[in-house]
Amino acid sequence: MSTSNYDQVWKSIKGELEIVANPTHFKTQIPGIYIKNIDAEDKIVEITALSEYQRNFVEDRLYGHLKKIIEKQIGPSFKLIFTVTKKDPSKLELDDLGPLFKKTGDDSTNYPQQIPANNGLNSQYTFDRFIVGNNNRLAYAVSTAISDAPGKVYNPFFLYSGVGLGKTHLVQAIGHEVLKKHPNMNVIYKTGEEFLNEVVAAVRRGKGGNDNKRTELKAKYRNTDVLIIDDVHSIAGKDATQEEFFHTFNALHMTQKQIILTSDRAPHEIRTLEERLSSRFASGMIADIQRPDLETRLAILQERNDEMKLNASPEILEYIANVTNTNIRELEAKLLQTVTKAKSDGVDLNAQSIISIMGEIDKNKQLTITPNAIIREVAKYYGVTVKEIKGLRRVKTLVTPRQICMFLLREMTKTGLQTVGEVLGNRDHSTVIHGVNKIEALLNDNVSLNKEISQIKYNIQNS
Ligand code: ADP
Ligand code: MG
Repeated sequence: MSTSNYDQVWKSIKGELEIVANPTHFKTQIPGIYIKNIDAEDKIVEITALSEYQRNFVEDRLYGHLKKIIEKQIGPSFKLIFTVTKKDPSKLELDDLGPLFKKTGDDSTNYPQQIPANNGLNSQYTFDRFIVGNNNRLAYAVSTAISDAPGKVYNPFFLYSGVGLGKTHLVQAIGHEVLKKHPNMNVIYKTGEEFLNEVVAAVRRGKGGNDNKRTELKAKYRNTDVLIIDDVHSIAGKDATQEEFFHTFNALHMTQKQIILTSDRAPHEIRTLEERLSSRFASGMIADIQRPDLETRLAILQERNDEMKLNASPEILEYIANVTNTNIRELEAKLLQTVTKAKSDGVDLNAQSIISIMGEIDKNKQLTITPNAIIREVAKYYGVTVKEIKGLRRVKTLVTPRQICMFLLREMTKTGLQTVGEVLGNRDHSTVIHGVNKIEALLNDNVSLNKEISQIKYNIQNS
C-alpha cells in the first residue's frame, strides 16, 4: 500500500512478529498497520492503524512483542505510540486489511444466543466475531470508521447484499462499538418492518384524535445519535411511513447524526421506493457485501466449529465450505445440521459419510418446497402480487417474474409442464416451455439475472 517511508523496516518487523504472535491475531489485525514515523531524536516509533478498533487491538495484544522486536531491530528504549490514520475506504487496497480471520472469542463462548438486548442489539453481533474477507472488506472498513466517529465520516451509510451475508451482523457491530466508545450516545436499531409498524400504530391512534403518539414517535427518533434501520426496503411503497422517514432522515442528517441503512439491493434498485428517499440513501457511502470465497468460508467454519465445540475435522469443514457457496447463514446451518444429524443417527462423521448425510439433509429440504411458496417468493422479490403473476396482463414487469416462476417450478419441484401451467393461472404447456427456455437462455449470459434467481431460490428454501 504504502504511505510510509518505513516500508522495509516494517516488513522485517512483521517477519519476526509473524513467528512470535498468535497466528490469528497476526492475520486479523496486522494488515493495514504500518509505521508512520520514527523519531530518532526523541526515540519514538509511531505505529498507525486504520481504525480505533484495530489500534486498540494491536496496542492491547501485541504491544509486548512489538516492543521487543523494535528494540532488537531499531534500537533500545524507543517509546511506541499507536495512532489511527483513516483512509478513504474506496481507496483501500487488498493488502490494507488482509484476510482478517478474526480472533476466537473467549473460550467459554457458547453458540450465539439470539437474545436481543434492550436497544435491539444482539450481543453476538460484534466486530470480534465478524470475519473479514475479500467479500466484505470495504463494508468492514467503513463500519469500523463509523464506530470511531459516528455522524462524522460516512453519512448516511448504505449497506446492501443478498440475505445471510452479514449485513445485520455488521451494522449491529457498529451499534455495540459506538455504545462501548461513547456510552452517552443513543443508539437505536430497528428493522424497516418494525419502523413501519410503529408508524402505522401511531397514525392509527392519531386518527382517534390523539396526536401525542405521533409526536412521541418523532421525538424518539430525532433524539438518536445513531439510527440503524435494517432492511429498509420494507418501507418502500408505504406512503405514510416513507413520509415519516423522510423527515426523520432529514432532521438527523442535518444535525450530523449517524444514519445506517441496509437493504437487499442498491437504493435505486428498490422498486416503489420514493425517489427523494433513494437519492438521499445514495448520498453518502454505499458498500455491498459479496458472497464469501472459499478461504473466507473455511475461516468462518473453523471459528464456528471452535466456538460451538463441534469437533468436526478439517476435512469435514473443507467439504462443507466447498459445497456451500450461497451465504454465511446457510454455511453455519449446514455445519450445525451435519454434526447434529451424524450424532443423532449414530454415524461417525468422516470424509465418506458426510456426503450421504448432507445429501439427506438436502433431500428433506426439497420435499418441503411447494409451488405456492415459489410463486409467493418470486412475487415478493419483484414487488408484484401473486394475483398479478397468475393474471393475464402481459407487461414486462409481470412477464419476466412469471417466466421465472415457470423455470423455478420446473427446477425446484420437478412439477410437470401441465401442472406448472395450471398453478400459474391455467396457461397452456407451450407457454410454459417458451417461458422456461427463455429464462434458461438468459441465464447463460445475464449475470444479474443469475444473482436474482439464486437469491430467490434461497428465499424459497428458507421461507
Ligand atoms: P444478513 O443480515 O445479510 O441477512 P446476517 O448478518 O444475519 O446476514 O448474517 C447471517 C449469519 O451469518 C449470522 O449468524 C452472522 O453472524 C453470520 N455472519 C455473516 N457474516 C459473517 C462474517 N463475516 N463473519 C462471521 N459471521 C458472519
Ligand atoms: Mg439481516
